[in-house]
Amino acid sequence: MALKNQYLIDLLETVKKRNAGEPEFIQAVTEVFESLQPVVDKRPDLVEAGVFERIVEPERQIMFRVPWVDDNGKVQVNRGFRVQFNSAIGPYKGGIRLHPSVYLGIIKFLGFEQVFKNSLTTLPMGGGKGGSDFDPKGKSDGEIMRFCQSFMTELSKHIGADCDVPAGDIGTGGREIGYMFGQYKRLRNEFTGVLTGKGLTYGGSLARTEATGYGLCYFTNEMLQANGMSFEGKTVVISGSGNVAIYATEKAQEYGAKVVALSDSNGYIYDADGIKLDIVKDIKEVRRGRIKEYVDAVPTAEYHEGCKGIWTIKCDIALPCATQNEIDGESAEILVKNGCKVVSEGANMPSTPEAIETYLANGLLYGPAKAANAGGVATSGLEMSQNSERLSWTFEEVDEKLHNIMKNIFKSCDEAAKEYGMEGNYMAGANIAGFLKVAEAMKAQGCV
Ligand code: NDP
Repeated sequence: MALKNQYLIDLLETVKKRNAGEPEFIQAVTEVFESLQPVVDKRPDLVEAGVFERIVEPERQIMFRVPWVDDNGKVQVNRGFRVQFNSAIGPYKGGIRLHPSVYLGIIKFLGFEQVFKNSLTTLPMGGGKGGSDFDPKGKSDGEIMRFCQSFMTELSKHIGADCDVPAGDIGTGGREIGYMFGQYKRLRNEFTGVLTGKGLTYGGSLARTEATGYGLCYFTNEMLQANGMSFEGKTVVISGSGNVAIYATEKAQEYGAKVVALSDSNGYIYDADGIKLDIVKDIKEVRRGRIKEYVDAVPTAEYHEGCKGIWTIKCDIALPCATQNEIDGESAEILVKNGCKVVSEGANMPSTPEAIETYLANGLLYGPAKAANAGGVATSGLEMSQNSERLSWTFEEVDEKLHNIMKNIFKSCDEAAKEYGMEGNYMAGANIAGFLKVAEAMKAQGCV
């Protein structure tokens, strides 16, 4: 979908100038602008209120030094980020990414996407994102703890249960959230729901661990059913083998699909008989090992070096659950050639613009990240509610609420796409539906 609206073309030029050297952020804004072209025509009041100009500029961006001491007594320095993007509909909410590739542009693109995603959940959450270029891989528990404590020492000055509530993301799981929560509590002397993804013994929600992967499958199932299909008997390829990938595999298998591949940043495994998830969980969740260890336990499976090859495996449904831009135009062409009918995104922005063009041009069902992976943040929203109530809901209660939220997200995307003349384009539907709620709130609150 090319950008033809002159007002948005001009505004995109300003965004490019102002955010030079941040290609991921420009990519995310361009995609949203392409979808919003009919909204500009239909809603001159939002143009008048400067909503488009304001929504692409974060309310606040914080960058800070994170010094910590490694196991050899040597001082290490990382850079920390928190981008508080938009608080029109609730406190800033979004995860913390710990990965060496993190820089301001990555956090900004993730924060921008989060604004629309959180809006789609229907829960009162604004958008934000944080992180650091710290690499947790190969670090001892002590090093992880010292890093997390140092990171939170600065971050604690900018967050709070009613202001900004961070959560996990790549590299930030239950262990890291625990260390950060402990440090926040010590510094502020208060026990509040300032972070989500917490352990169950100190305010975490049941089903939060499963939520993004399960939610992805709930959304995908709605999309399949609306188009006369189902997971039953389908061959599924899932990239990554972290939190999202593991629980997407679990739910897809429950729905009767055969998941044949998983990956990590070194390579991928292919098991024609279907992935044995208990083995993957043991490698990844218990031993924090590499995905290639799977073939030690299942000698009939194959391991291949390199991540990209996973998209050459024949499948009906592809669920990218690793990282941004992991499916490029070339991989998308191969998926199509091999008969793939559905791509639904667990990771944030895993498809390049060329890949998305290829899906849409070939009539694939395409579930965009900001809708399909919103189950994680939705359940974080449910964790916030439980913390405020000082109550804990059962797994079944949370899972049922999550399931309903995902059904409603699909419905919103479907209806918005239809209303704006782009039936079946769930990416456009997600961008429009997510945008409109935030835009109305921004307009109502005046020029802030
Ligand atoms: P994890 O850290 O648990 O797992 C990430 C997985 O992706 C790992 O298998 C990792 O491999 C792989 N990976 C990371 N970077 C790369 C890379 N550059 N190339 C190839 N593989 C890579 O993260 P999550 O599962 O939590 O997150 C996965 C994606 O889902 C991210 O895009 C995240 O933003 C998104 N997401 C997560 C949510 C959540 O609730 N956790 C919510 C919504 C979206 P390795 O171990 O080798 O690094």
